[in-house]
Amino acid sequence: FTQALKKVAQGLGVDIRPGKEVHHICVEGERATGAVTTDGEEFHSRIVLSNADPKRTYLKLVGARYLPDEYARDIENIQITSPVMKINFACDRLPEYPGLRDRGYELGQTGGVTIGPSIEYLQRAYEDARQGRPADWPFFSIHAQSAVDRTLAPEGKQTFSIFTQFFPYELAEGTWDERRDEIAKNALARFAWFAPNMADAEITMQVLAPPDIEARFGLTGGHIFQGELVPEQAFDMRPVPGSRSYQGPIAGLFLCGSGAWPGGCVMGAPGHNAAHEAIDRLRAGEYA
Ligand SMILES: Cc1cc2nc3c(=O)[nH]c(=O)nc-3n(C[C@H](O)[C@H](O)[C@H](O)COP(=O)(O)OP(=O)(O)OC[C@H]3O[C@@H](n4cnc5c(N)ncnc54)[C@H](O)[C@@H]3O)c2cc1C
Repeated sequence: FTQALKKVAQGLGVDIRPGKEVHHICVEGERATGAVTTDGEEFHSRIVLSNADPKRTYLKLVGARYLPDEYARDIENIQITSPVMKINFACDRLPEYPGLRDRGYELGQTGGVTIGPSIEYLQRAYEDARQGRPADWPFFSIHAQSAVDRTLAPEGKQTFSIFTQFFPYELAEGTWDERRDEIAKNALARFAWFAPNMADAEITMQVLAPPDIEARFGLTGGHIFQGELVPEQAFDMRPVPGSRSYQGPIAGLFLCGSGAWPGGCVMGAPGHNAAHEAIDRLRAGEYA
């Protein structure tokens, strides 16, 4: 998907600089005027669109001193701590779910599988995390990439991933660095209860706990949607209460990522909406 997007964008003349990190967004007289990367390159522009999350954009890249106090406080208050752990597997087999024995195991391999047997089960997993404990019996969402694309693993090997929750960003006991392996192994053991052929599988895991997702992908709190998608952070309360525009208090600075309405998922809707607003304002001569 990202490769297809890149091809279209480059065809339209977009200059993409992968690996560059923005150090700060330039603000002059309450207007965004460009950005400077950590290696010192300066970009000057009439508008800036940021799909970094709202906290990162406004508190880190802009800085609270450029914001009205109330806006800075509202951004600070965004719920953005993630309960998600992602585990990527390289394995000698794909999971087989006994419930699909008669209909064919491939059904659970070429399609996504969600495991959350009851509301009580999910509530217990959630309560564990609320107490600072990793869910003992977690919720699982599983996708097997090599089942649909054989180029992803060598002959006889497979890849699949598990998106699992609830896992607190901060553990009540110990740290993720101390406990990452133990916690992931427990999740795998619980998963093997649902997919028993995993119990003796030859497996290599890449474990991404919430702080790992934060560090690796630049998502504050490790939050996959740049902030909880809950009613109090939806509609005109995303990113902050009273939002009517993708442009916040700094003229010419737009949030175009999932921290803005309508939020996360691979759909591009915040970017589409923000781009249209920015184009309309440019055409109206607002940043001349
Ligand atoms: C583990 C995981 C699983 C997910 N599963 C699903 C799923 O199954 N279905 C689904 O629809 N969605 C899923 N999502 C969510 C989906 O990926 C996001 O909603 C979507 O990618 C949001 O796109 P975005 O453009 O808003 O921002 P993001 O993809 O969040 O991108 C923000 C970008 O800003 C960059 N950035 C941050 N700071 C800087 C800086 N200083 N300089 C330069 N760049 C910076 C980050 O590196 C990142 O690339 C998942 C996300 C994760 C992390």
